[in-house]
Amino acid sequence: MQVNTLCIIGAGTMGTGIAQIAAQADIAVTLVDTDDAALERSRGLLDKSLRGGIEREKLTVEQADAVRERVRWDTTRGAVSEADWIIEAVFEDRAAKESVLCDVSAQARASVPIATNTSTIPIHQLASACTGPERFLGMHFFNPAPAMKLVEIIPGTQTSPAVAEAAVALCERMGKTPLLAPDIPGFLVNRAFGALVCAATDIWVKGGKPEDIDAALEMGLGHKMGPLKTADLVGLDVVLALLRSLSEQTGDAMFRVPDVLTEMVEDGKLGRKSGEGRLLHLRRMIDCDCRLMR
Ligand code: NAD
Repeated sequence: MQVNTLCIIGAGTMGTGIAQIAAQADIAVTLVDTDDAALERSRGLLDKSLRGGIEREKLTVEQADAVRERVRWDTTRGAVSEADWIIEAVFEDRAAKESVLCDVSAQARASVPIATNTSTIPIHQLASACTGPERFLGMHFFNPAPAMKLVEIIPGTQTSPAVAEAAVALCERMGKTPLLAPDIPGFLVNRAFGALVCAATDIWVKGGKPEDIDAALEMGLGHKMGPLKTADLVGLDVVLALLRSLSEQTGDAMFRVPDVLTEMVEDGKLGRKSGEGRLLHLRRMIDCDCRLMR
């Protein structure tokens, strides 16, 4: 499948990041969003990312200019009917995604693949909103898309093998490493991370030191970053939402949301983004020690 034009619905953090890597791979991209303010934010995000790329010597000024020329922004969906590939990257809300997918699949050419960047919604459920579910699949990029190598490719029950293969080829063309993931809650990364963070938190509340738990997985299993540090980095509110989703979808006790996590999020302790980061663990550990000593 020849991909010269890509249309992305949703010009937020992920849509804009994906637009950048596609444009860097010589693909003409149209980013569609609901209003001019959203598009203005997206232009700013792309510009900031390109400037960062130049500063870190990942991009030349010429390459950054060429990317800007290949990206267009639009509040209408005119580009959908012209596109060779479509990626949906609107809010993580099933009804919003279904409405977009229903409209876009009716407007796009019949053979054009349509991907969703959902983090948590089952692909087979979203597929039922699409005309032509055999051309629909998940392409789960990670944030920040220009820097993160991994893309999870998630075929649904009806996705044609040709479309899954074309998605793999498209990711490789964009310099990414695609991995096939089953259509199960959390796919690969979020499912494994959810289980790890629950286990690490369980050890912590039973008296393990957070630093030691992270170090044990780093040194003992060769993980690059322990699950508690990772949770601090991505934000405890994001982790809480992930665990709630995994727990609801699977009913599995492995993903039971730890009370301490809910409490911390309710207290506004969100990890690094609220300025607490690793200190959060230390403070919590002192509380635990006090409880154990009593
Ligand atoms: P975001 O809030 O930054 O952007 C979403 C954009 O979608 C907004 O600009 C919004 O105006 C737009 N939008 C909403 N409804 C629309 C519609 N009907 N038509 C056109 N545009 C519409 O969100 P994000 O962080 O970019 O996340 C997008 C998707 O990517 C979600 O499914 C999310 O789960 C997934 N994802 C996010 C991350 C992350 O770390 N942010 C990582 C991987 C996957």
